[in-house]
Amino acid sequence: MPIVTVSRLAKHYGAAHVVRGLDLAIERGVCFGLLGPNGAGKTTTLKMLLGLIEPDAGEIRIFDTAIPQLARNARQNIGVVPQMDNLDPDFTVTENLLIYGRYFGLSDALINSRIPGLLEFAALTSKADSKITTLSGGMKRRLTLARALINDPELLFLDEPTTGLDPQARHVIWQGLRRLTHQGKTILLTTHFMEEAERLCDRLIIMDHGRAIASGNPRDLIAAEIEPAVVEIYGETVGRWAQKHASYYCKRHEITGETLFCYTHDGAALIAHLREQDVLRYVQRPSNLEDVFLKFTGRELRDA
Ligand code: ADP
Repeated sequence: MPIVTVSRLAKHYGAAHVVRGLDLAIERGVCFGLLGPNGAGKTTTLKMLLGLIEPDAGEIRIFDTAIPQLARNARQNIGVVPQMDNLDPDFTVTENLLIYGRYFGLSDALINSRIPGLLEFAALTSKADSKITTLSGGMKRRLTLARALINDPELLFLDEPTTGLDPQARHVIWQGLRRLTHQGKTILLTTHFMEEAERLCDRLIIMDHGRAIASGNPRDLIAAEIEPAVVEIYGETVGRWAQKHASYYCKRHEITGETLFCYTHDGAALIAHLREQDVLRYVQRPSNLEDVFLKFTGRELRDA
């Protein structure tokens, strides 16, 4: 029985249909990714799941509770990491956890018994009494994640949890999220980082224009949608090269700026050919979730 079920969900603002008949089901204990370019409708969907805005149509059930009618009850068992850190800068790390726990009606004794474990989880034990203003961006994100766990929720909503972090900090957050799913928690994650989704998510949907346009396990999607090898070819003359050679060497190809993406089952012949010339640079790599994402959503910029 899924922990979250969404059926035929819809929301419009004026003439803009932002979510258009979205269906999804999230099973207990999985990390579920909600991906999509800017303006796809991800944040609007998350807000409806949290009961913060009301859908025009469709149904949401979380823990078998209808949202938004019974959102308050469900929220007791949900942790939220918002896109922007909203820690209280006037308080210390420990005080932020304490105050947040009180919102859930937890006793100070219970909150205080949870704080050491959460600080350890977030690798912030040595910062327990530090003011928020003294923390790095990575520390603030880890604290926001720890804070979302104060009510020991079964379900976590994470809205771009690693945006703005350096690679080291991102790896620490990933490790923490994996620990949570191993503990049986269910995670709904929105992210623009395809590597993050590929590593963490058991299932995902790619949304665009308010609809799910692809769904599945990341590895299955890559295997089903993309040729196994990708050769990226760079250089000013790549357009001319493509006219002459791309259809011979590539099963499918795309050009963005000065880069050609050549999708193929076997890049060996192409690599041998490219070695013979010294104008173009190239790199061969396995296909990945970003290739799937770009195949479905296109390469043009979204400024929404
Ligand atoms: P995403 O999170 O995928 O970037 P959003 O759900 O934030 O997408 O937004 C989807 C679309 O809905 C965007 O075009 C955005 O401008 C529009 N939108 C979101 N909230 C509002 C609002 N309160 N009023 C009008 N338009 C909105």
